[in-house]
Amino acid sequence: MMEEFQKCPNCGKKSPEENLRCIYCSEMLPSSSGVLASFRFGRGRVLFLLIGLLVLSWFVRRYLF
Ligand SMILES: [Zn+2]
Repeated sequence: MMEEFQKCPNCGKKSPEENLRCIYCSEMLPSSSGVLASFRFGRGRVLFLLIGLLVLSWFVRRYLF
């Protein structure tokens, strides 16, 4: 994945784009444009995690029991 930075709206320092919060002052960073960013933000991410957990539990049941 390409490493990109976004500027903090609070302190003006640059944080890695993958961070949701500024690494210096913990201010929430604005979401960058793109599908990945909207996925990181809000409900999309929770849904993604839930699906991941479901798939993981399915694998565990299928191959361990
Ligand atoms: Zn900051």
